[in-house]
Order: sequence, then structure tokens, then C-alpha cells
Amino acid sequence: MNICKDRAFEVLKRLSFSRIAGTPGELEAAELLKAECEKAGVPAVIEAFEIDMPEIHEAKLTVTKPEVCEIRCIGIGKSGNTPDEGVTGPLLYIEDGLEANLIDAKGKILLLTGMAKPEVLERMRKSGALGYIACHGSIYDPEEMIPEIRTRNERRKPGEDANFPGVVIHMTDAAKLLNMGVEEITLVVKQDCDKKGTSHNVVATIEGTEKPEEIIAFSAHFDSVIYGTGAWDNGTGSITIMEIMHHFIKNPPKRTLKFVWCGSEEIGLCGSKAYCEDHKDEMDKHLFNINVDMTGVLIGYETAVCSCDEVVAKHIDFMGKVEGFPITTKVDMYPSDSSSFARVGVPAMTFARLAPKGGAEIHSRRDIFEVLDATAFIKTVEFMVKFSEQVVNARVCPVPRELPKELKEKIEKTAKMMGLDKKDEKKEEKADEKKAENK
Ligand SMILES: [Zn+2]
Repeated sequence: MNICKDRAFEVLKRLSFSRIAGTPGELEAAELLKAECEKAGVPAVIEAFEIDMPEIHEAKLTVTKPEVCEIRCIGIGKSGNTPDEGVTGPLLYIEDGLEANLIDAKGKILLLTGMAKPEVLERMRKSGALGYIACHGSIYDPEEMIPEIRTRNERRKPGEDANFPGVVIHMTDAAKLLNMGVEEITLVVKQDCDKKGTSHNVVATIEGTEKPEEIIAFSAHFDSVIYGTGAWDNGTGSITIMEIMHHFIKNPPKRTLKFVWCGSEEIGLCGSKAYCEDHKDEMDKHLFNINVDMTGVLIGYETAVCSCDEVVAKHIDFMGKVEGFPITTKVDMYPSDSSSFARVGVPAMTFARLAPKGGAEIHSRRDIFEVLDATAFIKTVEFMVKFSEQVVNARVCPVPRELPKELKEKIEKTAKMMGLDKKDEKKEEKADEKKAENK
């Protein structure tokens, strides 16, 4: 196998800087990856796409009764705007935002400590509440991590313009609000919800020797989130597919291989969605997507989530036993770029080396190079190369095209919840314009 842990970790070290969606850092990382491909003799292109980059002008949370104090917060992108003076009302703690949590929510400001899932957001909006406070972090975080609240944007269905302003606070401050017995609170959010930015994918191609018209696409997102260097999530995935690429440079594949480093995964799988849209006409040639989201962590365990026929999950389980590579497998959707491929009907899967609680952390300053281990990393790459070779060079593609019924239903359900089943007319118009320009 032509894989090398030292080469990979040297690239990883250089890649371990802030690569937030739509920022110059993300573009710099794209250029680094492209340069690495070209150095290895594989042509690569950077493909730009538009993303939502709402601009927060002001976010303020002030307790007004029983005493006056300010709570550190950041505005939630695309949530909405308050009047200049803000909205003022009683605080209602709604835990996970179930229906029973939302009785008497009208005219109040909601404190949500659970996940802001689309169905929870919808319930909150319909409740007649004035706005909401979401939470981030852990009450066990040290003092210096409390100001490091991760930015987030709401995902709106196309054409939906409900105004329901929200902010994020640290979990420690959520506990503080509850212990204080807050009676009244004022929320101010001012933002430009419609501001757009540009993000980038890097796409490298190795032409197949026997079946060049059939494509196997490897993917890994290379963007990171605020306050971390994203060494593990997903610098490691980025160098994993880079090593797989090195292997296939020396061992020419029968089918064509695409290596897709996706931007803006962290803000809603935007890079992979853009790739699938921009390469729409080629999607039926894409036989399989092998995605990698996090490998190489010292304390960890291997897993493969297959968004495709169960034969793949069973085969990986079988192979793991043959090779002495412990790995759990299942058929499901995974919150990473493989989902974008599955959504357009391309069988997909994600490999990940995850960590038990306390082993390593993502999405904070704790995601660092030092929790990683080159030996654990290379074991995963070795297994992935063996598995990939079978698919890439198979006489007949062993991955069934048809996705299992339950999986399709799950995809449809999420799409409906996110409004992805409705056509985004503005976007379609733009795409048509672009096509016309190219002609
Ligand atoms: Zn990730």
C-alpha cells in the first residue's frame, strides 16, 4: 500500500488552523489541499458555491427583574430581528421544547437547553413566544471556555421568513438564570439575515483505467468551527482521503475516482450539497460515496454508517473480523456529507473513528492535534484502502443502487422537515441563469 502516516500527519499539522465556512481561512485550506494534489500529480479544481452568512449586528440579553444583569450571548443567524429596544417578557424554561413544555409560552422568552431541532423550532415559533435562548457547552467547562460560544445559523425552509429572534448562551449561564429565579428578561437581536458568502470544495480526479465512466467518490469536509483548529474534525478525514488518493496514484484504479474535500459541512452539509447539485448530470455515474468524518484519535473506536443497502454494512462487519479490525456497522443516515449523496440517490457511507466520552472532544478549543495518534490513524486508512480497492476494482459493482425502503423514508422525512422537498425557486432561477451564461 502506498500510504504514509508521517506524510499524512505533516499535512495535518499544516492544516490545523481555523477554517470556518466562508472565511479566508477556509479558502487557504482549500488552496493547501489543491496544492497537495497537484504536488502528487493529480489535477484538482476549486469549486466555489454560495452560502448563507448572516451578519449579526447586535445581540444582547439583559435580566431586568429581580435584579439587573447582563448575560453573555451571541445572536443566532437567520433567526430574526427584535425591535431596536428589544423584546421584554418573563423567562420560561422549556427544557427539550416538548409540547407540554410550551404550555403558556405566549408573550414569554424561552430558554431551551435541548437541541434546537427543526420540529422544536417550529413548535417554539407557533407558541406565541417572543424569542428564545439556546445553550452551548457544559456546566463543567472551565471559566475560560464560557465566552467561547459557538456561532450557529438556523436552517430555514426556502421562502420561509418567520421572525423568531434567538441567541445562544453558555450552559453555565443557563444554570445561573434558573438559579436566579429570573422574572423578566430583555432580548435584543439585530442582524442582516440575507447576507451571503462564498465557500469552496476541492475536487481531484483520477481517471479509471477500465471503466472510466463509473465514478467512486471519496469525500471529507475540511472546514472547522470557531475556537478550534479542527485537527480531528475533520483535518483527519481530509488527510485520510488524501492518503487513499496516494495509494491509487501508485495502483491505478479501474473506475474513476473523485476526491471531494467539502467546505461548509459544519453549517449544514453545504459543500456536499453544492457538489451534488453542480454535478447533477454526473450523479447517475456516481456508484458509491465513501465519506470520512474523523479518524486518528488516540482514544477511540471505529464505526461505519452505511446509507445504502445492508449488504455493505454486513460486508464491512465480515471484513473487520477477517482483518482483525474492530468496527461496528449499521444502516442509517449520518450527520455528515454522505447524507447529501444519499439524498440524491447515490449509495453512500461514512467511516469514523469516534471517541468515548472524555476521550476527545470536537467543536471546541479541545479539538487539537495533541489528542491524535498516527498509529491509530494509519490502521483505519489501511482498512479503508482494502475495502475501497474491492469496490473500486470490482468486476461488477457490488453496491446495489437501490437504497433500502426505511432509509428512503427517513430521507424523505428529514427533507420534508427541512423544507428540502419544496423547490427553492430563487436558487433554480439562478442555476438556470448560470447555465444560460455558460452556453
Ligand atoms: Zn465533522
